[in-house]
Amino acid sequence: MADVALVSKLPDTPLIIPSTPLRILSEYHRGSISTTRTSLTESSTQDLDEPLIPLQRARPRANYKLADFIIQRTLGTGSFGRVHLVRSKHNLRFYAIKVLSKDKIVKTKQVEHTNNEKTILEAIQHPFIINLWGAFQDDSNLYMVMDYVPGGELFTLLRRSNRFPDPVAKFYAAEVALALNHLHSLDIIYRDLKPENILLNHDGHIKIADFGFSKRCSSVTWTLCGTPDYLAPEIVGQQRYNKSVDWYALGVLIFEMLSGLPPYHQPDQNTVALYEKISRGPTFIRWPPFQVNATDLILKLMEGDPSRRYGNLRHGAGDVFAHPWFSEVDWVKLKSREISAPYLPKISGDGDASAFEKYPEDNATALYGRPAPDPWGSCFPHFEHTAVHGTC
Ligand code: AMP
Repeated sequence: MADVALVSKLPDTPLIIPSTPLRILSEYHRGSISTTRTSLTESSTQDLDEPLIPLQRARPRANYKLADFIIQRTLGTGSFGRVHLVRSKHNLRFYAIKVLSKDKIVKTKQVEHTNNEKTILEAIQHPFIINLWGAFQDDSNLYMVMDYVPGGELFTLLRRSNRFPDPVAKFYAAEVALALNHLHSLDIIYRDLKPENILLNHDGHIKIADFGFSKRCSSVTWTLCGTPDYLAPEIVGQQRYNKSVDWYALGVLIFEMLSGLPPYHQPDQNTVALYEKISRGPTFIRWPPFQVNATDLILKLMEGDPSRRYGNLRHGAGDVFAHPWFSEVDWVKLKSREISAPYLPKISGDGDASAFEKYPEDNATALYGRPAPDPWGSCFPHFEHTAVHGTC
């Protein structure tokens, strides 16, 4: 376990993880939601936007097909499919492949979100954001080939630790802030920040994953999507919103890392009650004894009025970086990963997936690559059709 080198003025604070057995974490994973509003569709928001400069590909196009990989095991599940650990037959390296059922995506009206995920990820190259190498489809599924991030989810580490000491929470929050700033500089809103979507690399630094709700937007949008605990009041209130919802979510994340639970935690999962609390705002939060500067930053990020929210003021992310809670952070060193992480995942070798929960495999891969009717292929024009059969 590495020391926390981030905070030079405080004694090093290694993260101590209790040895109590891990609860069955999947029960506690919070699902994301997405509801298309009735009167206005997402695509119409583009009319309000300034024309966006097209995103450039960050890496050269790579052509993959399922037969290039040997599937090892499941790493995670989502609403539309699974993420698998795979090994390339060519270079023997390990990757993660996210498999999404085209049928489920179309039925839940997530076609645009899925196409966004691919185009956006392909254009991003940042030390704290997952790397997408390529994407393809067969008759039934879409496949996204990503770097394998072996350290597991920040969510798992947080639930095991109950809560993080202040310098540890600060380290992860600072890396997230750098990643959000990069996305916003490309006019990308992320929209699903939460510990479940923050993975830990072998060196303990973060990689933000799951861009299923990310969207290019230079002004405002209004789709209700995200994870209920992390939704900003303007999303809950069905108003137009901008990228400042990501800064609001960073406030929620810092609160959850420091206390172990999000600020408006609703044990009975009653989302109506949760949304009421979010709308009423942070005055009604029962605050654990955080450091004064931590509370101050959380309040400035969780500001209910987006025009007064930190990250969305005249100096943009600069206000967040300059906040006293982050005063010890050397942002240049942090970005170049010169600051050692508070926790080094225990990884026994390439392809070790012990940091991930075990999922029943259920023969889920049996139908991958099989010929089938393909009514939806044309909905996903950026996913090259590379079925193992036929002429493709
Ligand atoms: P997603 O549907 O993108 O949220 O992925 C579901 C889960 O799969 C995540 O919460 C992670 O546990 C796991 N996962 C996703 N991408 C990767 C990756 N590149 N490396 C390792 N695990 C991943």
